[in-house]
Amino acid sequence: MIVFDIQCDSGHRFEGWFSSVGDYDSQRSRGLLSCPSCGSESVSRIPSATRINVGAAGRGAEVPGPRSAEAPPAPADALSLAQKLYSRFLDEVLTKSEDLGTRFPDEARRIHYNEAPARLIRGVATPEEHAELVDEGIPVARLPVPTKGEMN
Ligand SMILES: [Zn+2]
Repeated sequence: MIVFDIQCDSGHRFEGWFSSVGDYDSQRSRGLLSCPSCGSESVSRIPSATRINVGAAGRGAEVPGPRSAEAPPAPADALSLAQKLYSRFLDEVLTKSEDLGTRFPDEARRIHYNEAPARLIRGVATPEEHAELVDEGIPVARLPVPTKGEMN
């Protein structure tokens, strides 16, 4: 999975989750991507801000949290807006993605190597499995999801 930061023509930023860059292009060209704040379909990707592809830098480490360099401290209302957007986006991800549970690492790998249809998937992975996927260059991201007994 790939997370893109997306910005609408009014400057609202939000995140989109895609199985591939092609998935982003296809959703965008079909007008399926719209700004959660104002509904504008005129959106574009912010190139520098993807949070994936952390590469081999962090074997065994968490995906880096807040973006370091370019992110100034956000004021409180921006934070709460971000939380609101995040929870909406989370709903969307949870609704649209296929829950593979502990099969997630295998399937993410199969999708990456074109052995399975590209699609939005989610599931659970151990820190070791997560690090292996990252090392293989497979785009995965950790999400703090409020769990309802989903974790082991
Ligand atoms: Zn907007």
